[in-house]
Amino acid sequence: MQIGHFPWDINTQKNITQEHKRYIKQIEKELTDYLDDNSLKDRKKEQLCKYCTYIDNHRIAMSAFFDTWCAKCNTPMQFVNSDVNMLCKYCAVENNSCCKCGAEMD
Ligand SMILES: [Zn+2]
Ligand SMILES: [Zn+2]
Repeated sequence: MQIGHFPWDINTQKNITQEHKRYIKQIEKELTDYLDDNSLKDRKKEQLCKYCTYIDNHRIAMSAFFDTWCAKCNTPMQFVNSDVNMLCKYCAVENNSCCKCGAEMD
């Protein structure tokens, strides 16, 4: 088996370095947002945990109608992209859980 590379030159080095810096900035921002928790009211209304709100909030989702069901009570649910919830709102609230990932609300 072979693993190939794109040709490397000094611009490649610059681009990769830039990309890393950009990524570190992004992580820094996510972590700051997580710690500040400024969307507390909104995310509680949506029944979303801190992690789903600030860290894991840019999942690449396929746009289409997706049918799923609540992982606790099997209630059918439909979403407009592939980023579907795990729990229905009722079960999430009832069990103090995030409706997206099922973790404890914080
Ligand atoms: Zn449910
Ligand atoms: Zn969550």
